[in-house]
This record gives sequence, C-alpha cells and structure tokens, in this order.
Amino acid sequence: MSIEATNRFVHEAAVLMDIGAKMERILTTPRREVRVQLTIEMDDGRVESFMGFRVQHDDSRGPMKGGLRYHPEVDPAEVRSLASLMTWKTAVLNLPFGGAKGGIACDPTKFSQRETERLTRRLVDHIHEVIGPYTDIPAPDMGSNAQAMAWIMDQYAKYHGFQPAVVTGKPVDMHGSLGREEATGLGTVIAAREVLQDHDMAVSRSTFVVQGFGNVGSHTARILHEQGGKVLAVSDVSGGVINKEGIDIPALLDHVRQTGRVGGFAGADPISNKDLLLVPCDVLIPAALGGVLTKDNARAVQTKFIVEAANSPTDADADDIFRERGIFVVPDIFANAGGVTVSYFEWVQNLQRMQWTAREVHNKLEAKMTASYRDLMKICKSRNVPMRAAAFVLALSRVGKAAATRGLT
Ligand code: NAD
Repeated sequence: MSIEATNRFVHEAAVLMDIGAKMERILTTPRREVRVQLTIEMDDGRVESFMGFRVQHDDSRGPMKGGLRYHPEVDPAEVRSLASLMTWKTAVLNLPFGGAKGGIACDPTKFSQRETERLTRRLVDHIHEVIGPYTDIPAPDMGSNAQAMAWIMDQYAKYHGFQPAVVTGKPVDMHGSLGREEATGLGTVIAAREVLQDHDMAVSRSTFVVQGFGNVGSHTARILHEQGGKVLAVSDVSGGVINKEGIDIPALLDHVRQTGRVGGFAGADPISNKDLLLVPCDVLIPAALGGVLTKDNARAVQTKFIVEAANSPTDADADDIFRERGIFVVPDIFANAGGVTVSYFEWVQNLQRMQWTAREVHNKLEAKMTASYRDLMKICKSRNVPMRAAAFVLALSRVGKAAATRGLT
C-alpha cells in the first residue's frame, strides 16, 4: 500500500484530534530514506544487482524499529508506508521505539542459502552506519528469517564489535528470544480472542479463514486450532485448501514441512487465493501480502470480523465498505504487533545479557496486548469510532506528545 493510503488513516485521526496541519506534517514526514544498490556474485559466477531500501520514519519515542522484507514487489513507496505503520504500531503497544522498515527487491525463493547470505551481508555493508542498537533495529519480515538476522548481527560486528541488540528475531541460540518465532501469530490470536469475547463469542466456538501460511499464518492457524477454533481454509502463494468441517492443522503443518507448500494436502479440497477471501466464516485473517482487500472484493467478503495479521491488507476503499457493512476490522497496527513486542523483549534481554523463559515472554506479551486492547476500546467507546481510527488516535497522541515534549515543534 502506498504512503498516501496510510496517511489517509493518519489524516482522519489528526482531524478527529484537531492536532493541526503543522504537527500532522511533522508526523508524516520520514526522517531519512536510504536507497542502496546491492551487487553480488551469484553461485554460477554471474554478477547481479538488487535495490535495497531503509526508511527511518520517526524516532520521537526511541530508536526506530522495523522489519526487512525480501520480496519482488518491494519498492520505495511501500517501504515508506510500512515504516510509518511501524511508528504507529510501536506507539499503540506503548513500546519505547519509533518506526522504520527496509527491504530488498528480490525473489529469495530463487536464491541458494549462500546467495541470500551474500545479499544480506552486502546490505549491512551499505547501511551499518545508519542502524544500531540505539538508532535503528531491523527484524525479519516477509521473505527474511532468523538466519538472515544472525548474518546481520555478525556483519555488523565486523564494523562495530559485538552488539546483539542491533537486530531482533535472531535464532534462539544466537541471542534471540524464546517465544519470538510464534509471537506475531500468538498476538494475532490474542487480538481475535479479545474482540470475540467482547461480542459474546469465543475462539473455540468460531470459524476462521487464514490467507498466508508462512511465519505469521502458520502459527496463527496452529494456535487457533490448539484453542479449539475451527480453521476452514488456509493458503500460501501457490493456492489454498478448504475443508468446511475444519482443517487438521497439525497434519497440514506436516504436509508443508514435507512438500514446502499448502497445495496437495489430502485432508482438504483446493481453493484459489481469490476465492479463499470470500469463504463464509466468523473471522477472516489475511496473513500474507498487503492490498488484498479492495473495493473489488470487499462487498463479496462474508465474515463478521477481519483481523489484520498482514500489514495493510485492507485498502482505504475496502475499509469504508467494511465499516458500512458492519464488519469489525481489527487493524494491523494492533493485530500483528505481537512480533515487534517480543522483538522489544529480545532487545531488552540483549542489553541486559539475560534470557527470559518462554512462559515469561508469553505472559508479558499477553499483558502488553490486553493493556493496549483496553486502551483502544476506551477510545472506540468515548469517540464512537471504529478500532482503526482509535488505533491511529492513540498512536498519534503518543507520538505527537513525545515530539512536542522533545521540542521538535
Ligand atoms: P513469510 O514470508 O513467512 O510468509 C508469507 C506467506 O504468504 C507465505 O505462506 C507465502 O506463500 C504467502 N504469500 C506470498 N504471496 C502470496 C500471495 N500473492 N497470495 C497468497 N499468499 C501469498 O512472511 P510472514 O513473516 O508470515 O509475514 C506475513 C505478513 O505478516 C506480512 O504482511 C508481514 O509484513 C506481516 N507481519 C509479519 C511479522 C513477523 O513477525 N513475521 C510481524 C508483523 C507483520
């Protein structure tokens, strides 16, 4: 999604809060944008070049934080929008961070492990001067993973010495945090559970459809299944599967481990990604790409709740249509904030040279998500606005206050 679309949500909140054009301008202008050309030798001896980006949006509340996406569709406008979302997300969760995002325009599925390593290290060679434990802390996002974060830590150390807090989402035995891998999925389920409870429903009595079966989608589906929820359909980039009686998620996870894809799973029928979004269910969870819910399909979606595990899955037109149709949207800047919250815990553990147990991490995540949910519902009720507007109001008030207190106005 473009920065204009994200800024429309920001603008609506700015008008509701009457913060004025000057402060809105300050809050929507990125601090720094870096664009680098990453030239590496491929395994077959060819030389290829890829465009890398890092956008640092706002540091009023602390060091900037945000993922690194490896995907063919990465471009400056998208990274700018995702960086801004990180500022609002860290503020909604009340984490002492600002927002940033980065990415490399590439298709990592076509790379060998060594090619991905070379590309990742080359990115660090180009951006190590603008990242750091107290300036900007990258993390995994679509197409990147814990191994890539370990290479970032290692390459950064060559310039600046041992600083594990420069990056989060690292492998657990390489200064990562227990509970980080499943954190975004767990946070998404906590968000869904809270909203369902407020509507006299429960995970164990509800049906779910999940688009995307990577880190976020697979953990979300697994945890929903463990909590008694019925997952009717899931998909990945190659297509989806559906079973109206509910998919056996542990069996599907085994199938994906063996074959690398959701398609071909014996316990369900095939369904396209397009049709999957229209399957009747209680909760629809987009957990893949942005921009999948638009004015072209929003009227055909048959769900009561949308929980945005992906970043920006709903564009502004679709958001209006869902509001009009009474479909409750749990916005990305709250619903998928479990990942950055546990990234914050990882950063704290790295700085303290401590390791917390998985139970401690899960309990602290639960406390952060439920506190933020209560903050959001208070605003929804007092201002009579949907949850996305409430989230932007909460975020803008926190970031705006920090910016004003630091004297940037
Ligand atoms: P991932 O790379 O682990 O998985 C992505 C999944 O989406 C894969 O199953 C892939 O096959 C599928 N996919 C890709 N293109 C698709 C398409 N065109 N149609 C349907 N499915 C498609 O990525 P992830 O980390 O799970 O991230 C998924 C989403 O969640 C992204 O929007 C990301 O920004 C967001 N997110 C991730 C985290 C995190 O901690 N990993 C945190 C917050 C938000």
